[in-house]
Amino acid sequence: MIDSLNPQQQQAVTQPAQHTLILAGAGSGKTRVLTTRMAWLMQQGLSPYALMAVTFTNKAAREMLTRLSALLPIDTRGMWVGTFHGLCNRLLRLHHQDAGLVQSFQILDSADQLAAIRRLLKANNIDDEKYPARDVQRFINAEKEKGLRPHAIEAYDPHTRRLVELYELYQAQCEREGVVDFAELLLRAYELLLHHAPLRQHYQQRFSHILIDEFQDTNPLQYAWLTLLAGDQACLFAVGDDDQSIYAFRGADISNMKCFERDYAKGNVVRLEQNYRSSGHILDAANALISHNADRLGKKLWTDSGQGEAVRVVEKPSDALEAQWVVEEIKALLKDGYAPDQVAVLYRSNAQSRVLEHQLFSSAIPYKVYGGQRFFERQEIKHVLAYLRLIDNPNADTSWLRVVNFPTRGIGARSLEQLGDYARQYNCSLYRAVPYMTGRAGTNLGKFVALINQLAAQAQMLPLPDLIEQVIHDSGLLEHYKNDREGADRLENLQELVNAATVFVMEEGLTEEVAGRIPVSPEPAVDENGMAVLSAMSPLAAFLSHASLEAGDNQAQAGQAAVQLMTIHAAKGLEFDAVFITGLEEGLFPHENSLAELNGLEEERRLMYVALTRGRRRVYLTLAQSRMLHGKTRYATRSRFLDELPDAHLKWLTPRQAAPVAQSAWVGGFGREAHGWNQARQRATAGMASTVAKSGLIVGDQHFRVGQGVAHPKFGEGTILTLSGSGNEAQAQIHFREAGTKTLALGVAKLTIIA
Ligand code: ATP
Ligand code: MG
Repeated sequence: MIDSLNPQQQQAVTQPAQHTLILAGAGSGKTRVLTTRMAWLMQQGLSPYALMAVTFTNKAAREMLTRLSALLPIDTRGMWVGTFHGLCNRLLRLHHQDAGLVQSFQILDSADQLAAIRRLLKANNIDDEKYPARDVQRFINAEKEKGLRPHAIEAYDPHTRRLVELYELYQAQCEREGVVDFAELLLRAYELLLHHAPLRQHYQQRFSHILIDEFQDTNPLQYAWLTLLAGDQACLFAVGDDDQSIYAFRGADISNMKCFERDYAKGNVVRLEQNYRSSGHILDAANALISHNADRLGKKLWTDSGQGEAVRVVEKPSDALEAQWVVEEIKALLKDGYAPDQVAVLYRSNAQSRVLEHQLFSSAIPYKVYGGQRFFERQEIKHVLAYLRLIDNPNADTSWLRVVNFPTRGIGARSLEQLGDYARQYNCSLYRAVPYMTGRAGTNLGKFVALINQLAAQAQMLPLPDLIEQVIHDSGLLEHYKNDREGADRLENLQELVNAATVFVMEEGLTEEVAGRIPVSPEPAVDENGMAVLSAMSPLAAFLSHASLEAGDNQAQAGQAAVQLMTIHAAKGLEFDAVFITGLEEGLFPHENSLAELNGLEEERRLMYVALTRGRRRVYLTLAQSRMLHGKTRYATRSRFLDELPDAHLKWLTPRQAAPVAQSAWVGGFGREAHGWNQARQRATAGMASTVAKSGLIVGDQHFRVGQGVAHPKFGEGTILTLSGSGNEAQAQIHFREAGTKTLALGVAKLTIIA
């Protein structure tokens, strides 16, 4: 187990019990070290229940358990290995009373959350132009991620005060319905430990080792949760790579690493510098790229696997031709013996996948897209899940509204509005408000209640997969999709859901159990201190949690015999023999939006670093001079990242164009905090000084400059972000304060310079 590791890895694995930070670059074996450390600790006699391991995805957690049971003959069931969300969910189920939750609380994934917020805004007659549901959602989640409840938020302006009120109303709605969103899982679990000293002490004593993978992407609340749980007894073993921090937009904070080093690891930092994944050219290119970032903890990676092949670069006139070229090249790779699932096509934005998919499909190459619509997010699956949720907890209004009239049962919007009024009046759920309804609506609603009650009774008799079949049948969904012309796929997915449940109960050892009842465990349900050890969840509740948490999983599943398509974010932690990184154009990658945020360009560069370091043997970088995105053709110059890679590691397969005539240039100006964008701008301009050719353009009698204020008769006032082309081709990308970012032809648009 240990022998195959290098001396630094061995040292990390066999550390004495102390806080440790493994700070190491991509492919240096961090994940492998973490898993081996767990096995090693258990080999030394540590109980599996004294360990907690936090990984980034459910898939990674499952893989870790599989690897562990391969290394050691242990039963990994019941071990605390999972994502932050998964572990917090477990904690809250075990201690739902202390956490102030109903036992059958359900998890809202982000689409459910958005729907719940829309409903809230409507019920309160909130102007959704002024308070778009997405903005409200973002606000609530961001505050929760900072650990803040409404009363603790300092709101200085009316707009924010209103948002705080909405947060409060939303929270009340969640309580009423017995649901929690993703951010709430974390915050609740944190508050649970914070406010309940005996419980906290119990867990502090229980876990003597807490291990965390991908530590660079933890947010402040997760960090607080970890350190609270660790107390002064547990050892934290954190592995991460500051150069791969790519979730700042979701609140991840790289400074956690510095804090951890200062406050916990106190100099006990292990560095791993040998890379076992990529060949020399790929690795050196990645190293050179990331050296353009200023804000780094600093490390160097080397490999003894030889230089290998240079990174190939291809430029095509359009995105369609780019995709066509990629697919031709994939065909050649497959002919050369590359396994399909060892070929990955990565992109910065989901929208890019369509044209690639089209080409792959036309060429009959099997492929799999990740991060598009995930299984548990499909409409028909969500319908069945909503029925299942109602069986588990009839007061879940979001699920209620989803299926009360699907398939149609003659329950109209007006009746539902009336039902909603009663629910508000009596401060109860929609389900409980049904008896107040009269007439035909009352009868139809009564029938729906009877359906749910009857299914709930079935749940007390049938195993989970059978229950799901019953639901699909009795709800009328089967009939509905049978009659639907495009229902065939959906029916197949419904069958797939039954299969997923079968696999789930098998993996969890619940095949013999009835769906709606909490199994009687052969193992003690409480430990020597009287604390619950095993989750007290029925197979149905466990499956519903699983479905919600999977829906939040951002990561791909490699392994199928198909070419893998995914965003770079989803590729984190994975590796492939051949990797295509597509769309290397200014504005797309680096993405124009990110550049407005503090540290935006550096985060984009880290993303590029993650992308490059996924490749083992071969990496391709491709770009298109024009691209259809969101219904518009846009012209772009090549990404600055290409110019940051040393020529020695590149092999241009198409002629390299001279330095772009009018390189897009960027200035901030709409960052949220003034000092934020200033800093970001300094970094951005420092990073691209070598590539900017032009930041001003004369069109007609006006002299446009990047950063300048302009006014447009329709869009209002804005700031010029980029300038490109000349003469009739001259274009500007402008961020309008009200209308958002637009690309306009300077010769045509009626712009006036205002500052
Ligand atoms: P990332 O930063 O991308 O998450 P990582 O640091 O977690 O990467 P791993 O995924 O653990 O790296 O390892 C990268 C590859 O190198 C894996 O295929 C792993 O099995 C292999 N590897 C790690 N250490 C060794 C070693 N000592 N000998 C041989 N192979 C190794
Ligand atoms: Mg890893």
